[in-house]
Amino acid sequence: MTRLVIATSNRGKIAEIEDLVCGMGFAVIGLSDLPARVDIVEDADNFEGNARKKAIAVARAAGCPALSDDSGLCVDALDGRPGVHSARYGGPGLTDGDRNRRLLEELTGVNEDRRTAAFHCAIAFSQPDGDIRTFNGILRGRISFSPRGDSGFGYDPVFIPNGFDCTLAELGMDVKQRISHRAAALSQFAQWIRTPGT
Ligand code: IMP
Repeated sequence: MTRLVIATSNRGKIAEIEDLVCGMGFAVIGLSDLPARVDIVEDADNFEGNARKKAIAVARAAGCPALSDDSGLCVDALDGRPGVHSARYGGPGLTDGDRNRRLLEELTGVNEDRRTAAFHCAIAFSQPDGDIRTFNGILRGRISFSPRGDSGFGYDPVFIPNGFDCTLAELGMDVKQRISHRAAALSQFAQWIRTPGT
């Protein structure tokens, strides 16, 4: 079985990616299974650029294919922020809860119609020689007025996907795994891996 490194240390992402790639015929390992730490500076100004950097560096270091995810939340009323800076929004040392409160504060006075937002996800799959493919997914929705729900991670408690009245954190893992930006990108990856030569 070919080994595949999941090139992220975000526990929320790892759980979702492992669930979605299970059954694709890989022996999945994590960054903590590698003999040495791989340091990557995520300095690209778009999700795909950061995903590519992570996958190439990790595949090269591991000597086997690597799958990376770069993702984030783009809020229209904030001109697309926090975007690629979603993990660091509000500064270092904050919890997900702190970041959600900060986001809701920034949107004080913004009415429901103008609270539109989207989660973006770029998945990159790299071979150790640098041969790489990327896949993108988007989940559109709006920002709630208060955090709700316990499931998932990151901004899930403040994001209401289009077609729902509940936040992703209230909808739970089963629904999220059907509709998410990450699931959309990984489903394209799954389709591509099943059709060699494309
Ligand atoms: P990065 O891709 O490691 O730079 O970090 C992405 C950040 O975006 C995460 O730390 C979360 O704050 C946020 N994010 C990405 N995907 C999701 C998601 O599915 N739910 C909630 N937050 C997410």
